[in-house]
Amino acid sequence: MADKRDYYEVLGLGKDASDDDIKKAYRKLARQYHPDVNKAADAEMKFKEVKEAYDVLSDAGKRSRYDQYGHVDPNAGGGFSGGGDFGGFGDIFDMFFGGGGGRRDPNAPQRGNDLQYTMTIEFQEAVFGKESDINIPRTEGCDTCFGTGAKPGTKPETCSVCHGSGQQEVVQNTPFGRMVNRRACSHCGGKGQVIKEKCPTCAGSGSVKKQRKIHVRIPAGVDDGAQLRMSGEGEGGLRGGPAGDLYIIIRVKSHEFFEREGDDIYLEFPLTFAQAALGDEIEVPTLTEKVKLKIPAGTQTGTYFRLKGKGVPRLRGVGQGDQHIKVVIVTPRKLSEEQKELLRQFASVDGEQMQEHEESFFDRMKRAFRGD
Ligand SMILES: [Zn+2]
Ligand SMILES: [Zn+2]
Repeated sequence: MADKRDYYEVLGLGKDASDDDIKKAYRKLARQYHPDVNKAADAEMKFKEVKEAYDVLSDAGKRSRYDQYGHVDPNAGGGFSGGGDFGGFGDIFDMFFGGGGGRRDPNAPQRGNDLQYTMTIEFQEAVFGKESDINIPRTEGCDTCFGTGAKPGTKPETCSVCHGSGQQEVVQNTPFGRMVNRRACSHCGGKGQVIKEKCPTCAGSGSVKKQRKIHVRIPAGVDDGAQLRMSGEGEGGLRGGPAGDLYIIIRVKSHEFFEREGDDIYLEFPLTFAQAALGDEIEVPTLTEKVKLKIPAGTQTGTYFRLKGKGVPRLRGVGQGDQHIKVVIVTPRKLSEEQKELLRQFASVDGEQMQEHEESFFDRMKRAFRGD
């Protein structure tokens, strides 16, 4: 066996690389050397080297043995490079995008498409959860012909022109020689099969459009933009393939008073100057009930108070967020003569107190505006 390069070196990583680092490095290098893409003479060899390094390092058990013993593993009888089991190269699209693209058997089962549905719910429904039925128009396999498209009692027949491959070779003699082109079989339209007698329900397509009522359970605590996946509730598969998935995108309406940030709820609450100055006990609304809140004397506008556990249930995990109350001191717009007089008296006393207690603040401000 020729000298093998260290697997970490092959992937350009250190020994402390995380699983994620390994995956990323592999993807990058595999893309770079995949023989579908890279036509250099040594690309195939490099690709194999990268693949082998990845196979070992991405497997926790193999990686720890490799870290211990290097390329010679006493337990694996001859090391990791068994070779031989490395089959042909998959289609690069299959590798990275999980199918799609490339040549495929026209009669192979095909997974149905995913569907997306946007659902708008109220603020409280997002907090407490909701169950609801929605109507989804989707394509499903035809029940009359079980998706074959052929009239019950008959079967689609293998195309006699392309013998089921769905492709035809067209040979042309040109001044430059013979040219062979492949194209979809004109007899069966590339399907590889011909339906002599069509199913009356689906007119031979094998699928029908249906309105389906689907029951959706929205968990308590979902937030705007959340996505629920309902496995197998998308479009029906073709030729016995599995159905796609249904994705429900949640949009949450805003609330007149409450605002939400993650699992926490915010509420602005007005206080009179007297309440803030003298202190008070107030009642504030939460999502479920009214709660008493003590306002200490001398509270400033913009102060936050926290009501623990009065927020949104956590979608993952246990417990709930909090509710935060921001108090805002409201200046009265209309005052009676008596109130005005009282305020004038208050102001004359208050002004003297301010001068005494807050001298330094006014000094600092004056200095700041003078700029020294
Ligand atoms: Zn054909
Ligand atoms: Zn049918």
